[in-house]
Amino acid sequence: MTLRTNKELYELDKQVYLPTFGRYPVAIQRGKGSRVWDVEGREYIDAFAGIAVNNVGHCHPDVVRAIQDQAGRLLHISNYYVSEPQVNLAGKLVDLSGLDRVFFSNSGAESVEGAIKIARKYAHCRSKGGTIISMQGSFHGRTLATIATGRQELQNGFAPIPQGFIQIPLNNMEEIEKIYNEDIAGIIVEPIQGEGGINEIDESFLSQLRTFCDEQDISLIFDEVQTGIARTGKLFAKDHSGVQPDIMTLAKGLGGGVPIGAILSNEKVSATIEAGNHGTTFGGNPLVCAAALAVLETIEKENLAEAAREKGEWIRQQVKEMNEPSVRRIKGKGLMLGIEFDFETKSLVQEMLNNGVLANYLGGNILRLVPPLNISYEELEIVMDVLKKSIERVKENE
Ligand SMILES: *Cc1c(COP(=O)(O)O)cnc(C)c1O
Repeated sequence: MTLRTNKELYELDKQVYLPTFGRYPVAIQRGKGSRVWDVEGREYIDAFAGIAVNNVGHCHPDVVRAIQDQAGRLLHISNYYVSEPQVNLAGKLVDLSGLDRVFFSNSGAESVEGAIKIARKYAHCRSKGGTIISMQGSFHGRTLATIATGRQELQNGFAPIPQGFIQIPLNNMEEIEKIYNEDIAGIIVEPIQGEGGINEIDESFLSQLRTFCDEQDISLIFDEVQTGIARTGKLFAKDHSGVQPDIMTLAKGLGGGVPIGAILSNEKVSATIEAGNHGTTFGGNPLVCAAALAVLETIEKENLAEAAREKGEWIRQQVKEMNEPSVRRIKGKGLMLGIEFDFETKSLVQEMLNNGVLANYLGGNILRLVPPLNISYEELEIVMDVLKKSIERVKENE
C-alpha cells in the first residue's frame, strides 16, 4: 500500500466527495481512547469525539471485542426475524429509560423522522392533525422533514419544504398556548440544544410542556440524539429534570462509532402503531446492537455519567480561573460544553488543531467541547493548555 500524506488525501477527497463539509486537510487514520493519529503519525487529543459520538473513547477494547465476536457470528438478518443482540439492547434501553418500546434506526435524523410518524399516528387516531411544534435554534437532522423543524439557513435551496411544522421561541410557553389548535400532533425539543449553540432549556419549561401535552393529549418528544448516553452527566438529559417524554430519540453516542439510532416510546403512543406502519432494512442489525450493548455496559461499569459531571465541573472551574476577558460565559451540562467568546471561534478551532487538539465551533462565537467521557484529567489539562495558548495566538493575530 502506498503511503499518502494528509495533503494528498485531502486533494483526492476534494475531487470526488460531495463538497458539503468544510473539511480540514487532516486524514485521521487511527484512534485509541481520547487520542487519534493522522496518516503522517501526528497525534491529537480529540475533544470533539466525532461530534459527541465516541462517548466511551475511540476503539474501546470491550466495544471492539463485541463487534469482532458478532462479526464472526451474524452481521445482518432481516427485521422479519428476531435477533438476540437486538432484543437484549431494546430490553436494556427500556429498563434504563422508563419508556416501554424501542425501534432501531441508522441515524439521528431517521430517529426523529420515526418519532414524528409515531406522534402523528397517535394524533390521527384522536382525530387531530399532524403539525409538529419545534423550537427556534433547534437541530434535528438534515433530511427534508428534519430540516423543516429547524433553522432557515438549512432549508435554503431545498424547497418545497415539507408542511406541518411550526417553530416557536425557546422557553416560551405563552406562545405555544397562543398558537395551539387541533392540528397540533406534538412538540419536539432537545433538552439542551446542540448544534444551535449549546443552549440550555429551563427545567420549568420542560415540565410545563409535559403538563400541556398531557392536557391536550399530544406527544412530547425529546431529541436526545446529542444529549443522551451520559453526555450531560446523566444517562439521559431528561433525568436532570425528571420530565418523562412520550417519545425519545437517540443516536450519536449510542453505538460508540457504529451507525445506530433509536426511537423509544411509551405504551400509550406505541399502542397506535400497527404492523407495516414503519420499517427499516439495516436498523438495529445484530452488529450495531452488539456494539451498542457494549457501549451501555461500559458507561455503567466505568461510571461515565458521573465522570462527565465531574469533568464538566472541572473544565468550568479551569475556564473561570483563566480569567480570560474574551470569554463571555460557559454553557451546557456535563461534557457537553459551549464556551462563548467575544470573537468568532473559527480561527480558534484552527489554532487548536495546529496545536494538536480537535474541537469545534458553533454559531459564530461558541467553542464546542464534547470529548470522550473517559478522557483523563492529564489529557484535559493538555486541552486547557492548548486552549489558553490558542486564545493568545488568535488575539495577537486580530
Ligand atoms: C446530530 C443530531 C441529529 C442528527 O443526527 P444524524 O445522525 O446526523 O442524522 C438530530 N438531532 C440532534 C439533537 C443532533 O444533535
